[in-house]
Amino acid sequence: MTPSVQADIARLCGRLGVLRTAAADEERGAEVDRLVERARRGDTPEPELSELLRDLGLLFLGDATREPWPWDGGGHTGAEVYACPAGRCARRWVRAPGVDIPRCDLDAVRLSRVEED
Ligand SMILES: [Zn+2]
Repeated sequence: MTPSVQADIARLCGRLGVLRTAAADEERGAEVDRLVERARRGDTPEPELSELLRDLGLLFLGDATREPWPWDGGGHTGAEVYACPAGRCARRWVRAPGVDIPRCDLDAVRLSRVEED
């Protein structure tokens, strides 16, 4: 899988909650399900994802790769960094003390800890 496909999948993963809600209102939930299926197989959800986001008025949502905790990737912070266990999506999540480890929105599996340097 190429980094660009992982970034595309991260784009879907990071928006899945709001995307599902908005798509359900427009009776386009099946389109979201199809994009999720593709992403689970490791295929890019683009360009249909961008079209759907635009149709639903969600293009204002920024880059989700580092959500919900922006991190510039520089230096050694000693922070616990988590990522998708399947390596499918490019999202990184920095755990704050006392916060539960989130699940990947695509697979509903817990993120796993990764070493970044
Ligand atoms: Zn993900």
